[in-house]
Amino acid sequence: MKKIQMVDLKGQYQEIKEQVDSSIQNIIENTSFINGPEVHQFQKDLEEYLGVKHVIPCANGTDALQIAMMGLGLKPGDEVITADFTFAATVEVIALLNLTPVLVDVDKDSFNINVEAIEAAITPKTKAIVPVHLYGQPANMEAILKIAKKHDLLVIEDNAQAIGANYHLKDGSTKKAGTLGHVGATSFFPSKNLGAYGDGGAIFTNDDDLAHIIRGIVNHGMYERYHHDVVGVNSRLDSFQAAVLRAKLPLLDRYNSARRNSAKLYTQHLSENENVVTPAILGEDDSHVFHQYTIRITNGKRDELAKVFQENNIPFGIYYPIPLHLQKAYQDERYEEQNFVNTNELVKEVISLPMHTELDEEQIEYITSIINKVV
Ligand SMILES: *Cc1c(COP(=O)(O)O)cnc(C)c1O
Repeated sequence: MKKIQMVDLKGQYQEIKEQVDSSIQNIIENTSFINGPEVHQFQKDLEEYLGVKHVIPCANGTDALQIAMMGLGLKPGDEVITADFTFAATVEVIALLNLTPVLVDVDKDSFNINVEAIEAAITPKTKAIVPVHLYGQPANMEAILKIAKKHDLLVIEDNAQAIGANYHLKDGSTKKAGTLGHVGATSFFPSKNLGAYGDGGAIFTNDDDLAHIIRGIVNHGMYERYHHDVVGVNSRLDSFQAAVLRAKLPLLDRYNSARRNSAKLYTQHLSENENVVTPAILGEDDSHVFHQYTIRITNGKRDELAKVFQENNIPFGIYYPIPLHLQKAYQDERYEEQNFVNTNELVKEVISLPMHTELDEEQIEYITSIINKVV
């Protein structure tokens, strides 16, 4: 059996080696390291893939979220509602901009932000909602957009984990995750579904004015050379990363279906185990891109399983072990424990299994046989 890895970027590289190597060589020859043609071309390719009017590349996913919020003109003191169960970057940028993060509970089946909890958290100061499409499955966007419309709120999608996921609306139309709200943000961190060979990120929007504002913000607030109209940042995708991403983008749908196939196999092999809850796909099949395959261990043996995995050199992840509302940096006396029943439980139950495009059935059988023995 091949050695089991949490993510396998080397295997993917073999297929795109020629294109990646020659584009990188080209960039060196042309010295077009910053804002080269590769960046512009990748932006166009991604706009077309996502069916969105504007993609603005930037340096990483955390910047993408921050810049999206800056572009929307959110002001200190504005309340921004987001999920208690996500990577800290989501809440970090809210706090950094002196906005007020309002963390709310998630659903146990989807791991995504709970719609009733959003409604309950709305105050006159609420300005935006940041749904996170956790583990590769979009949040309940149709309901979230409805709430946003009713209360005149902005919706910023954290799409770092769900690039390529389809969202099927009730009217029969389909949109890509990250393009449903006012603005979407994603990350090209190497282990993401569309990963660069370093850091990268992007912002998406269909709003022409917002796109214009954001293009200035990523470039020191400049709309005309050396005229700084707003306070901006320096956040660029570099040409090497764009070249890698351009080679990978045409393969993204195939990558995502390889992940879905592995997910199906995992679920089959775990289906008889009553102490394991396998991930629910709430929409159609192609709505989940399995950035992570995360199961819940409901009989209290999660940590024991983690120990056995460690002893057997099976990599795993616990995303995330502490709810954000209990993190020192994000505590707030307004939070009440009874409002976080699900996240408080999930942090003790979840474990993410190896998931990448190069997993094979033998590996999945081995991993699940261990789970079925221990749990
Ligand atoms: C990875 C990730 C980010 C941050 O992306 P970086 O490129 O690492 O800055 C933000 N939100 C979520 C949910 C993520 O998974």
